[in-house]
Amino acid sequence: MSVYVDYASTTPVDKEIMNEVMANADVFGNPSSIHRVGKDAKAKLQAHRARIAKSINAKPKEIIITSGATEANNLAIKGTADRHEKPHMITTDIEHASVRTTYQNLSEDYDVTFLKASENGLIDVEDLKKNLKSNTVLVSIMFVNNETGSIQPVFEIAKVLKDHPALLHIDAVQAFGHMEVDVEALGADMLTLSGHKIYGPKGIGMLYLREGTKLSAQITGGSHELSRRAGTENTMWVEALSLAMEKADYERSKRSLKEMQLKERFLNELTAKEVPFEVNGDVNRQSSHILNLYFPWSDAEFLLTAFDMAGIYVSAGSACNAGTVQPSHVIQSMYGGEERALKSVRFSFSHLMEADDVLEIAQQLHVIYERLSGNQ
Ligand code: PMP
Repeated sequence: MSVYVDYASTTPVDKEIMNEVMANADVFGNPSSIHRVGKDAKAKLQAHRARIAKSINAKPKEIIITSGATEANNLAIKGTADRHEKPHMITTDIEHASVRTTYQNLSEDYDVTFLKASENGLIDVEDLKKNLKSNTVLVSIMFVNNETGSIQPVFEIAKVLKDHPALLHIDAVQAFGHMEVDVEALGADMLTLSGHKIYGPKGIGMLYLREGTKLSAQITGGSHELSRRAGTENTMWVEALSLAMEKADYERSKRSLKEMQLKERFLNELTAKEVPFEVNGDVNRQSSHILNLYFPWSDAEFLLTAFDMAGIYVSAGSACNAGTVQPSHVIQSMYGGEERALKSVRFSFSHLMEADDVLEIAQQLHVIYERLSGNQ
């Protein structure tokens, strides 16, 4: 039996969706062509743009299609920084690399503040308030953290920014499909999403950009996407993103209930089997699909290898380089030091999993623990 429990990393594509995309593949034209074939493609593109917009309560012209959330985050951050002389920008220590590295690079020339997370995995709104300056032009914060699942206080942050000209950019990649993502309710000026985290294909994503917000294109060329992102539109993948978003939103309650039940079952089973662990962050303020556990008795690198041999596919909090586990910057920001970060593992669940899957993971953890502690 093998168990994939790494759905925050990527999800399998929904074959029903891909079959529908293939069935419509005859509408293949270049949406910029002015003949009939091009016009049909443009109609398809705009129909799906409208459906994407509807899924997040936005207007079609507020949607910029990108190659994924990495590009969308780059566009939001660099596209805003480019429009100001000496901007100050605020982000957090726990962002995904596509936000964090972009800001780290910008910080060589610009003033960037990185907010720390507390042990509960959350950013402190008071800390943000204290760090706002008159020239702060952008605040970037994720909705749900991809390593711990912690749900950041984005609504409170939006409230603070109501009285400040800074734009609010929310990376909602790990939130969509698990929590309601409504750009109006969130008060977001920009918001990013990715197709492959919601059972769509890899290489497609989007940036929501509030009407009237100025942004400098980072990929220049033709006037596609209202001159904010050049390149012939990937109509098939736009359709796939639109269908994946609609389905994820429609099934959101059902999916997250199942994920929550799997997570609880897993935690109960580990407790029953007396495998020592601690949850990283506050389990009551986390998304249904992500659970990050600290195992004081083993390095994550060892656990990942033992799991892999047992057919269990899981991640340490951050990317693996040449087979070695890098200490997670998120766990380090929360707890300080490398020790805990090197002994933490992320489990990310899906509605596609069954109770037997989590029982198998708990059983394998129990076996590894017993072996390590010399009881077997
Ligand atoms: N932001 C977050 C929170 C993510 O989890 C990811 C994917 N790991 C990304 C951005 C990047 O998305 P993509 O793979 O579409 O570039």
